[in-house]
Amino acid sequence: MSTRDWRGKHVTVAGLGVSGIPAARVLHGLGAVVTVVDDGDDERARAQAAELESWAAAHRDPNGEDGGGAGITVRLGDGDTLPEGTELVVTAPGWKPGKPLFAAAAEAGVEVWGDVELAWRLRGTDGGRAAPWLAVTGTNGKTTTVRMLAAILAAAGLKTTAVGNIGVSLLDAVLGGEEYDVLAVELSSYQLHWAPSLRAHSAAVLNLAPDHLDWHGSMEAYAADKGRVYEGNTVACVYNAADPATEALVREADVVEGCRAVGFTLGTPGPSQLGVVDGILVDRAFVENRQKQAQELAEVSDIAASSSRGTSAGPPAPHNIANALAAAALARAFGVPAAAVRDGLRAFRPDPHRIEYVDEVDGVAYVDDSKATNTHAAEASLAAYEPIVWIAGGLAKGATFDEIVGKSAKRLRGAVLMGADRALIAEALARHAPEVPVVDLDRTDTGAMPAAVREAARLARPGDTVLLAPACASMDMFANYNKRGEAFADAVRALAAERA
Ligand code: ADP
Repeated sequence: MSTRDWRGKHVTVAGLGVSGIPAARVLHGLGAVVTVVDDGDDERARAQAAELESWAAAHRDPNGEDGGGAGITVRLGDGDTLPEGTELVVTAPGWKPGKPLFAAAAEAGVEVWGDVELAWRLRGTDGGRAAPWLAVTGTNGKTTTVRMLAAILAAAGLKTTAVGNIGVSLLDAVLGGEEYDVLAVELSSYQLHWAPSLRAHSAAVLNLAPDHLDWHGSMEAYAADKGRVYEGNTVACVYNAADPATEALVREADVVEGCRAVGFTLGTPGPSQLGVVDGILVDRAFVENRQKQAQELAEVSDIAASSSRGTSAGPPAPHNIANALAAAALARAFGVPAAAVRDGLRAFRPDPHRIEYVDEVDGVAYVDDSKATNTHAAEASLAAYEPIVWIAGGLAKGATFDEIVGKSAKRLRGAVLMGADRALIAEALARHAPEVPVVDLDRTDTGAMPAAVREAARLARPGDTVLLAPACASMDMFANYNKRGEAFADAVRALAAERA
């Protein structure tokens, strides 16, 4: 699409937020007539609206043709009515498909794009470089995998960046001054829902577990939106051999002729898979003769385990080996040599609060996985240690805990529960692990973490791991999962100082 096509086009941006404001600015810059709509009408929204409108007024293009730099209008308090004359809607990814605004758009024959679709359509605008996208989605592990992928691509000498829910925004990556060779793109199910024409070079679905079902309506709809990431792939659709639902999505996808299904496994890889043999990450997909040949990529120990102190934190958790294999598969699909996989994984450092080793106190390791905000994530981190004193609880978001407790019961030394929905976890523990001692802190206040850590220390024995993997969202007690993780680390350090 050329810049010309945007001049005077009436675009409605749905949502005055982290994706809507940059989208509105970009569209204004292209000469579109922009109306931003939002349900909210509080003080903060009004301040943001005023700032955006005055920014647009100050950035009018005096030489623009009709409607060029026509300004931005913000309409607060009504996100449901489609503004008169709308030719395109660009929505924030979080807006539910059932909103009346979208029904009105469909009625009027107006297309709806998400922020990712907008970025995809604008890439290469007016001769700019159109870097291919390597895309990652899944219920858990997206950020980690995309960061690993970017590290591997960079180690191969490619100009790249990790984009999506992290760091650089997609619009900046596509339209900013940097000329990238390739982008490592994290995509949520919401973003994929609203990105119908996206065609990644290669893509991975890491895993599929029930999440955000209230938004998508059903597990089928959620899976279908995740599966869109494979549409039109040209080289490889990467799936998780341990999660057949991801492989099923590959089979259903319409891909470019010659595009291959490539699996990753924590076991020995078959042909067209990447896997692990004797502590070595091995590629049997991107080799000359995959029936007979395998290429060594890296050692499992090259994958950095996370430590807030920069010290060695022991072997990586199994799910991070899986993430590394998925990242390696995408990089290899892009033609990256084996040595770059090793160098990239060595250079990679996990983001905070994702299985982050905090300290050892009295022979007990303390690990912060505050980012485990759903049961699927927490189950993965509970599988990485033994014996564990588990600190859990918060907002359950409709989850049930029978499965996670059933699978983890034998690894548990004890459990410390807090937060609004702790009773759900306590009931599951009583049903499936009646012998495990449980401390119910009976607290939902921000200051409860030191007490949780002290109780956990009391239950733990030398050699154990105290693991914060709440399996719940944090907002009942903390501003976000970062704050929850920081409170945990602070409490552990205070304990260490006390015992020193
Ligand atoms: P996302 O971006 O998908 O939220 P992150 O990389 O931020 O994923 O990891 C979030 C949490 O999910 C981690 O703290 C960990 O508990 C868990 N996790 C990471 N990778 C996986 C995986 N491959 N399978 C299951 N759980 C995982």
